[in-house]
Amino acid sequence: MAFAQLESETVRVETDVEQVLTGLQVGLDGARGTCCWCGRELYDGHYVTVYAYRTAGHDQWNLPRVYCRECNGGNIETPTLGTAEVVATAFLGVLQVAASQTTRLVLTGVEVEEYSGLDEGSEV
Ligand SMILES: [Zn+2]
Repeated sequence: MAFAQLESETVRVETDVEQVLTGLQVGLDGARGTCCWCGRELYDGHYVTVYAYRTAGHDQWNLPRVYCRECNGGNIETPTLGTAEVVATAFLGVLQVAASQTTRLVLTGVEVEEYSGLDEGSEV
């Protein structure tokens, strides 16, 4: 029973992360992003791998790295204590922001590949 509970807990966490990452903005302006490895431009419908992290005490996820399908280079090399890190695959989508009449490139169809929680890893 304990094992089953642990398993469902893991699934719950990852599902939450997928929900939180869905809709996260890619890039700074307009409906366009850039692969952080090869510099290729990324648009609506592209399949990407992303690395995102959140530090303890913050709800906001940061999205420092986005890779195109060819580069696909996201992985958690050294888990950091006090930081939740995730590598996920996603499709890019365009979100229309009616209030400001602008568009944003966002993550959709997020699937978590790797997850490292706040209490995993070693101190820096
Ligand atoms: Zn690339």
